[in-house]
Amino acid sequence: MTSVHSSATPGEPRRAVVIGAGFGGLALAIRLQAGGVATTLLEKRDKPGGRAYVYQDQGFTFDAGPTVITDPTAIEELFEVAGKRLSDYVELLPVAPFYRLCWEDGTVFDYADDQAALDRQIHALNPRDVAGYQRFLAYSRAVFEEGYLKLGAVPFLSFRDMLQAGPQLARLQAWKSVYAMVSRFIEHDKLRQAFSFHSLLVGGNPFATSSIYTLIHALERRWGVWFPRGGTGALVQGLVRLFEDLGGRLELNAEVARIETREARATGVQLVDGRQFPCDQVASNADVVHTYAGLLGGHPRGRSEGQRLKKQRFSNSLFVIHFGLDRPQPQLQHHTVCFGARYRGLIDQIFKGPGLAEDFSLYLHAPCITDPSLAPAGCSSHYVLSPVPHLGNAPLDWEEEGPRYRERIFAYLERHYMPGLRDHLVTSRIFTPVDFRDQLNAHVGSAFSLEPLLTQSAWFRPHNRDGQLANVYLVGAGTHPGAGVPGVIGSAKATAGLMLQEVGE
Ligand SMILES: Cc1cc2nc3c(=O)[nH]c(=O)nc-3n(C[C@H](O)[C@H](O)[C@H](O)COP(=O)(O)OP(=O)(O)OC[C@H]3O[C@@H](n4cnc5c(N)ncnc54)[C@H](O)[C@@H]3O)c2cc1C
Repeated sequence: MTSVHSSATPGEPRRAVVIGAGFGGLALAIRLQAGGVATTLLEKRDKPGGRAYVYQDQGFTFDAGPTVITDPTAIEELFEVAGKRLSDYVELLPVAPFYRLCWEDGTVFDYADDQAALDRQIHALNPRDVAGYQRFLAYSRAVFEEGYLKLGAVPFLSFRDMLQAGPQLARLQAWKSVYAMVSRFIEHDKLRQAFSFHSLLVGGNPFATSSIYTLIHALERRWGVWFPRGGTGALVQGLVRLFEDLGGRLELNAEVARIETREARATGVQLVDGRQFPCDQVASNADVVHTYAGLLGGHPRGRSEGQRLKKQRFSNSLFVIHFGLDRPQPQLQHHTVCFGARYRGLIDQIFKGPGLAEDFSLYLHAPCITDPSLAPAGCSSHYVLSPVPHLGNAPLDWEEEGPRYRERIFAYLERHYMPGLRDHLVTSRIFTPVDFRDQLNAHVGSAFSLEPLLTQSAWFRPHNRDGQLANVYLVGAGTHPGAGVPGVIGSAKATAGLMLQEVGE
């Protein structure tokens, strides 16, 4: 293994730069700083969090991205490695039911960690699926043991690592899709949707993504669904405070223009505003295509890897509306999945384009159900998201389409879930695929980076350490294990292990 040639003077700690303060970048920066590496975290935007950005408007707080917080143990571990306690920084509130699932014909399914309630609801739809669900849960737990507990934070640097995982993947029939596997156990169409939609939360098409992603179901059953008091932004702030308490340095409004290299090594980074940060190790939490083709575009390795990655398949994008109402919405649950009339056909259009479908399936966030402090008294804050094709599959003019699409979604919500919504609207803003591209530097405006296909997972995904530039690392949704808060926190563990191992040599 290559050793790190420090540009620091002898006796001084090694210096690392982490580019991007998403959950992956923050988790990595905490682990490095706690491991004795003087770490600077450089974030392009004016606030940390990346996809977990926060908007504040007229007393409303809107989390922009992740709202379903799972695997609190991965978050707790970040505080433990730093000798601190999560509960001193952030309060996690349990969410029950985990989600409410709704269909246009009025069917409602409350997915909760209550076996009797689940059995009752499954029985009402199809009595035979009560036993089928138990078999599905057992399968999902087996995948969770192998795919998450054993391999979720392991860096797949060599093909040998992949071969070692091969027998387990074969035994679990990882080549099958999530939907195919769920359908082996469950008969009822709506229940198949209810137990296969989870991969969409991390950008995976249930009809194409590996059945490994059924592990999300077991993960939720094992550790529950949580929401930080004050919103996901409060968790981001807690992680920032932890990092700074350890002596780490966060620079906001610090957009990196390039990673400086000399031969096969990085020597530091340069910002768009000209500032330079020399260091011993560089890790990028930014989009993988942006990292290689953009930040490393001056190096042949960056150009070739950037070209290769552009040919891979990227996850869908999202259209998100954040909105505040002047009245509460007690008829809602915290998380609602609103299934449209079509499932497979709609998902196909979302992942392939070429345009927007006439119908939609939505996720509706109503955080005031758990924490009323996110809106002024008597009001409620929300977001609704619609999965849409990325810009490579549907190059739409979102400036024109966005306001129109917002009205269509509001009309649909008024009809099915929130009567009189527009009469009580205080504020609203939209976030489109173009914003994913321009604000987050996401290739083709993808919301979740590379699509989690089996052929783009583990060793096949960009590695946590670059194969040629010895001290360049990656962390976040584009690396193993992939998108989602637990995924990127797992990737930070894998990357930090490699970086700390090298400075220790
Ligand atoms: C709307 C939405 C809802 C979601 N809901 C959930 C959920 O409920 N639960 C869940 O687990 N997951 C959810 N996800 C997925 C999850 O949010 C992401 O997979 C995860 O947050 C990505 O984290 P990341 O570390 O990869 O980095 P990101 O959050 O993508 O952060 C990368 C950072 O790098 C910065 N950056 C980029 N280029 C540069 C540069 N040149 N210089 C400096 N900084 C740069 C960006 O500004 C950004 O802050 C959701 C995603 C979205 C979009």
